[in-house]
Amino acid sequence: MSEVASVPGGKASAGEALPPIQEGVFVGPDAEGTLALIGSGCADCGQMMFPIRARCVKCFGGALNNHRFDRQGRVVTFTVIRQAPPGFFGSVPYALGMVELEAGVQVLTHLVGKPPESWKAGDIVESCGMSLPLDPRAERYGQAFAFRPSSEIQQ
Ligand SMILES: [Zn+2]
Repeated sequence: MSEVASVPGGKASAGEALPPIQEGVFVGPDAEGTLALIGSGCADCGQMMFPIRARCVKCFGGALNNHRFDRQGRVVTFTVIRQAPPGFFGSVPYALGMVELEAGVQVLTHLVGKPPESWKAGDIVESCGMSLPLDPRAERYGQAFAFRPSSEIQQ
């Protein structure tokens, strides 16, 4: 397992052949740990959605195409989870954030790559891979997505 960095709630992962926790939600991660979310775009009204839908949430049309989202997003808000919810076997505390992608699409996601308390609304982030234990003894891991501080921030 090639571990990029230890992160709260799980481990950053790169280029691993872990089973995805959810099918059809993302592509990647590649060797740098980068990953892209996949959603739907409506051919009739242009609405973007995440995750993939069978019908448009705006016009209810069925002419949807898969859409690969830009990796970069912005933290709208976040909270720090201190007690693991049932079925979550990663470590706590961790930051759970709402990230806005292109076209105003929002996604609820783990925020990784820095201490949970240090996140701020407005932080620029990018999608990445994250491995999470699938059982209490951490004998098996699955591939999930998360967002980390963007490597493309100019400052
Ligand atoms: Zn539509």
